[in-house]
Amino acid sequence: MAIIVKEERCPQNHLCPAMRVCPVDAIHQAGYSAPTVDLAVCISCGKCVRACPMGAFQAVASLDPAS
Ligand code: SF4
Repeated sequence: MAIIVKEERCPQNHLCPAMRVCPVDAIHQAGYSAPTVDLAVCISCGKCVRACPMGAFQAVASLDPAS
């Protein structure tokens, strides 16, 4: 499983609340821009998916569309 960020779902006007719940500090945000997930650090716990009320974080089976 991998976590993707749907930038179009993020209003990009506030501090990302998911950064507080990520246990491994994998979520980063420049200013109030849409956050990014460092997949090399992410353990796919799903906490960010539940923390974002806009549904901007989505769990996907794979980042590779061919798989
Ligand atoms: S799935 Fe868990 S570890 Fe990965 S970015 Fe979200 S909160 Fe952090």
